Amino acid sequence: MTLIGRHALVTGSTSGIGWGVARALARAGADVMLNGFGDPGEVDERRRALAEEFGVTVGYDPADLSSAEGVAGLVERTQTAFGSLDVLVNNAGIQHVAPIEEFPVERWDAVIALNLSAVFHGMRCAIPRMRERGWGRIVNVASAHGLVASTHKVAYVAAKHGVVGATKVAALELANSGVTVNAVCPGWVLTPLVERQIAERAAANGTTVAEESVALLAEKQPLHAFTTPEQIGDLAVFLCSDAASTMTGAPISIDGGWTAQ
Ligand code: NAD
Repeated sequence: MTLIGRHALVTGSTSGIGWGVARALARAGADVMLNGFGDPGEVDERRRALAEEFGVTVGYDPADLSSAEGVAGLVERTQTAFGSLDVLVNNAGIQHVAPIEEFPVERWDAVIALNLSAVFHGMRCAIPRMRERGWGRIVNVASAHGLVASTHKVAYVAAKHGVVGATKVAALELANSGVTVNAVCPGWVLTPLVERQIAERAAANGTTVAEESVALLAEKQPLHAFTTPEQIGDLAVFLCSDAASTMTGAPISIDGGWTAQ
């Protein structure tokens, strides 16, 4: 329970990796603000269960983070609700898959707004109070696609490379302030975001979801297993610990060897 008394905001935590990170932070003792879309009743039930399981305060804010105002409002309300914001996990993200010449402009704008600009706005809004308090942890959820490219993911790959760059800039600006900034770069994690891609591939290739899952892993990762949201959560908790106090500005791969090749 290394994070007792710390206050965390995890964007996009009603699903997938964000939920895994929120659970891991709560298990480590942090109060957590959840964010993301979902059925309000269901989200509230999970919020209550999480608070009860680990004896921490868990809030929920459904802010849409595709605008600067949306992100600023979320950070402000979290700081007001908890009194401070010590851990910011910029995780919310979306995907769109199409060749560049067919890539809808509106989808480019949406992916860049959420996957890249929201990370900038989150850091921009959270940094002043973290700096003032002399302690903070920012974990940006980038991707293996922050380090290498794949076809048909131009907006996602551009955004994630941008997140890795922005993480490095923030780390330099915050060196010696007590605030560290790192980027987590997962390979395949079986979440709704990836399940949708697998289903689309199965439909296009006339194969089964099980066959496409194996093919997807084998195409990119020497190690043929999905990373779990829980494992990403444990990595985030480690980055918040004293053991990681000199780790900053790092893109940290957790990708089954994807980017080792
Ligand atoms: P997911 O679809 O399961 O979850 C996305 C979350 O973001 C949900 O809570 C959703 O409600 C929220 N969200 C979507 N649009 C939003 C908006 N406009 N405002 C606020 N919240 C919004 O996806 P995931 O796989 O858990 O992805 C989480 C992050 O991890 C993303 O940044 C993604 O790029 C990254 N990532 C995922 C994988 C993977 O294999 N799944 C790999 C590398 C990186």
